[in-house]
Amino acid sequence: METHTITDSVEALEALYGSDTFGVKAMEKYLSKSAFSKMMLTVRKGGKLDTSIADEVAQAMKQWALSKGATHYTHWFHPLTDATAEKHDSFVEPDGKGGMICEFTGKNLIQAEPDASSFPSGGIRATFEARGYTAWDPTSPAFIKRTANTATLCIPTAFCSYTGEALDKKTPLLRSMAAVSRQATRLLNCFGVNPSYVDVNLGAEQEYFLVDRDLYQQRMDLIETGRTLFGCLPPKHQQMEDHYFGSIKERVLEFMNSVDHALWVLGVPAKTRHNEVAPGQFELAPLFEPNNVAVDHNVMIMDILQRQALKYNLVCLLHEKPYACVNGSGKHNNWSLSTPELGSLFSPGKTPHSNILFLTFLACVIQAVDRHAALLRASTAKAGNDHRLGAQEAPPAIISIFLGDDLTNIIEQIKHGGAKSSCSKTMMELGVDILPELPKDTTDRNRTSPFAFTGNKFEFRAVGSSQTCAWPMAVLNTMMAETLDEVATYLEPYAGKPEFNSVVSALLKDIVTRHDRVIFNGNGYSEEWVEEAARRGLPNIKSTPEALEILSSPAALELMEKYGVLSRAELLARKEIQVENYEKIIDIEAKTCLTMLQTIYLPAIAEQMTQICGTVAAIKAAGLTTGLKAAISKAESVGTLYDILPDKVAALEAAIASGSTADMCAAMESARETVDALEAIVDADLWPVPTYAQMLNIHSR
Ligand code: ADP
Ligand code: MG
Repeated sequence: METHTITDSVEALEALYGSDTFGVKAMEKYLSKSAFSKMMLTVRKGGKLDTSIADEVAQAMKQWALSKGATHYTHWFHPLTDATAEKHDSFVEPDGKGGMICEFTGKNLIQAEPDASSFPSGGIRATFEARGYTAWDPTSPAFIKRTANTATLCIPTAFCSYTGEALDKKTPLLRSMAAVSRQATRLLNCFGVNPSYVDVNLGAEQEYFLVDRDLYQQRMDLIETGRTLFGCLPPKHQQMEDHYFGSIKERVLEFMNSVDHALWVLGVPAKTRHNEVAPGQFELAPLFEPNNVAVDHNVMIMDILQRQALKYNLVCLLHEKPYACVNGSGKHNNWSLSTPELGSLFSPGKTPHSNILFLTFLACVIQAVDRHAALLRASTAKAGNDHRLGAQEAPPAIISIFLGDDLTNIIEQIKHGGAKSSCSKTMMELGVDILPELPKDTTDRNRTSPFAFTGNKFEFRAVGSSQTCAWPMAVLNTMMAETLDEVATYLEPYAGKPEFNSVVSALLKDIVTRHDRVIFNGNGYSEEWVEEAARRGLPNIKSTPEALEILSSPAALELMEKYGVLSRAELLARKEIQVENYEKIIDIEAKTCLTMLQTIYLPAIAEQMTQICGTVAAIKAAGLTTGLKAAISKAESVGTLYDILPDKVAALEAAIASGSTADMCAAMESARETVDALEAIVDADLWPVPTYAQMLNIHSR
């Protein structure tokens, strides 16, 4: 990849921004006026693409890509793995005269048929049809992926079976965006608002760790599993609270800068960079964008972070919990619905009219999240995230909504107010008197809530740092679509009628009364909340296997099917893939743990014993008695723990043989406990792997 240096002028920065993406600027330059305006209709409003312009767009895209040095193109998609997929084709076609021409047609652009047989399908392909095809998503701009000597045109696509079943993460996301947008429009129409369209927005904050590459290479666990399976906490970790927002070390800042530049070139609006809570932990936040574009961009961010890190002899760890006992990494999903005319529909307004709209949309979120809390939790289920959720540092596995005191007050008034006064009176109050203007900074700075209202958006914080946001967002959009649908269906007959406001008022009261148990503004890390949530009947789903069961619940299947987001077969296939994925991850971790015990830790501890015994023998041979007690005492401490290990190894072997993930997790934990205790007493120069203290502190070089 090319290195990016500091741009010396605003003009240079402007020219750099988006220069490797076939975005609006490039399309305007390379397309005819009429094709450009047709493309814009699709890009801006998500309308169906007029395929008659496909050939022209393909030609323009090819010209543009060739001018950027691209030799190949690929349909770039999100299969049901954690990676993205690409299969490159060159533009080269023989010209029949022994030479070549560069070819790229509308057909090449719109559809491709990669060999789908090696991607997970959860049995869908067997049931339906072997072939799979990718279909262009024109709403997400094509871009150039570069290495030092290559440039490839990447065309964002959705990946489906030949009979149309989704085989990727993008398809349900696009379907869910269409569903929530359609239902939000219906609800707005009830209020006499006719938006040109409703956008779904996402700003995904990405947390990550950096570790020195030389140290990384000495840690088999990091290489194989992305997290440390052993390692004890150094005396100084995050307790001084000096890393969060601390001044950024030069080497890290250089890295961050190269990441920002690489992202800007790709039109990814990288905005914020800072140190995170744990030493060695950082965050990158782009500005929010349309949901599918933000998802694509987040995947590109993860890719660029990892690639740029290597240039600074660093490795970027995206795992949710690379180190035990220090903070894990999440991906806060800032989500909102908006229209070009009104902005965010979650913005409390100043006029009675916009207030009532805001409160209605707010009530819809409350109902949707309460009703489908378990499914929302399940959307973040992944082996790595289990170490985070409920570990008293990330949001708990209990889904609740933080509203802040002002809004909670208003919700209380809606709940009780209606009883005291007439509906229309309440409505007047709702509109004019009750809702204060909410300054942004009175909202949540309490990071313990998994789903927080933050001024004009909601922040879903349970998503793991290595996950794509596609599935959690698809779930959130779909559950919101359902409630919006119900509310719109209820209100439509009253639209424009005199009683409309009182009907809305009564409905809000009803929703809030049924669902306000999900609102919680207190400390989500506390034990009291766990008990309180149980009393309120809120689900607390602690592990991935338990969470994945939700995917086959009638509520989940009906919801996804009703809004055309995933058919029953598609959702069940996803469950199967995720269960299998979880089992594979735990199996790999357990086997890595076993190998490290047998080939790395046990030999090192044996060496320690040998050395101490040598010391004891030497002291005795010298006819001394001093020093003997200390040496023997150390031999006993080490030896006692050493003696425990063979049983733990055997237990781990048995767990692996049994295939029980729960047993494997328990056996790994138990082995770790002993090894970590040994790490605290074995000679530093005999300890065979880098320690947490070494890995968490990034040194300039
Ligand atoms: P923080 O949560 O760290 O305080 P901000 O709240 O300013 O930071 O923004 C975090 C993310 O939320 C950014 O990606 C930002 O673009 C995004 N964001 C801001 N407003 C909205 C909105 N209306 N809808 C969706 N995302 C938004
Ligand atoms: Mg945030």
